[in-house]
Amino acid sequence: MSTMTHVKKTCPFCGKEFFVLENAANKAVYCTLACLTKAQEKFESRGVAFPGLG
Ligand SMILES: [Zn+2]
Repeated sequence: MSTMTHVKKTCPFCGKEFFVLENAANKAVYCTLACLTKAQEKFESRGVAFPGLG
């Protein structure tokens, strides 16, 4: 039986709203892997890391 809750988040890259499992909400930032990848590429030049994703 699953009692997992989904929480709504807003993707900071494209602004789209999406749902993730509550226990993954702190890890899930972007709506898709594509947004994550693009955001990482964008931030790479600033040297910003994504702890817990690498
Ligand atoms: Zn997105």
